[in-house]
Amino acid sequence: MCGDVFFNGTTSESGDKTMNRRTGNLTNYHSHCLYCDGRANMEDFVRFALSEGFTSYGFSSHAPLPFSTAWTMEWDLMDDYLSEFHRLKAKYAGQIELYIGLEIDYLNEESNPSMIRFRELPLDYRIGSVHLLYNDKGEVIDIDVPADKFRDIVDREFGGDLVRVVHLYYERLLKMIGLGGFDIVGHADKMHYNASCYRPGLLDEPWYDELVRTYFAEIARRGYQVEINTKAYHELGTFFPNERYFSYLYGLGVKVQVNSDSHYPERINNGRREALQALKKAGYTSVMELYGGEWKEIPIYYSRKECQNSFLE
Ligand SMILES: [Zn+2]
Ligand SMILES: [Zn+2]
Repeated sequence: MCGDVFFNGTTSESGDKTMNRRTGNLTNYHSHCLYCDGRANMEDFVRFALSEGFTSYGFSSHAPLPFSTAWTMEWDLMDDYLSEFHRLKAKYAGQIELYIGLEIDYLNEESNPSMIRFRELPLDYRIGSVHLLYNDKGEVIDIDVPADKFRDIVDREFGGDLVRVVHLYYERLLKMIGLGGFDIVGHADKMHYNASCYRPGLLDEPWYDELVRTYFAEIARRGYQVEINTKAYHELGTFFPNERYFSYLYGLGVKVQVNSDSHYPERINNGRREALQALKKAGYTSVMELYGGEWKEIPIYYSRKECQNSFLE
């Protein structure tokens, strides 16, 4: 039944109220607004989340890097980011639970989620992600790009050595995981789509499978959550991580949450239902959601209908 909730910690009264209104795991903690490269302001996302029946919602702008980019927030906007969030949290209190986070890049040993400057920020959660590699000249290369551009980058910046690029990517993720300072691994194997376009069949190659499974085992050992990132599901037909690892993650005991990594308000719910169904198929019976300021294991109800039906049973 819908009231069958597993509590991980204490809860607040407002958390209980919002949680009891949930109608099907309608949450998202990975989204980008105009403080970074999102395409609408924070309040537009909140209003759309409300219209979709979401009960808990979080923002995760791209954290500042040591240099300017078109997609990251600058440090001088951080106070505005936090105060706009608090304005909305107060304005919409009782209607939806709002949370504030950041998606923080692992760039190098000096700039990553473990930095004291990030740790000191009053955030509800942090997502750790890798979007950048260094080429042989020590230049920063953005590899979180469309597949055709990725192919050009591998050929031009890394001499066509895809295997090396894949190793560089997972080495950096493992370094990030070792250093800590975050709660959720962002789009854990995102490179798999582009790398598979470059070299079809890659995911079935034993060395690749071994590399990714070792990486997930390390994530499990350190106790991070993994998001099921649905951003590209409708467009590319895959989640990050790829669905083939869901049952492995379940077996490792890794806790998961479903996030749309949306840059547009109207996309916040994209792929959520499909991800929840895939998780159920892999053995998962719950996902992590924030209520009353605590991560809780919430049973998977992947449709409103299913939730209502279970009330009738
Ligand atoms: Zn990202
Ligand atoms: Zn993102």
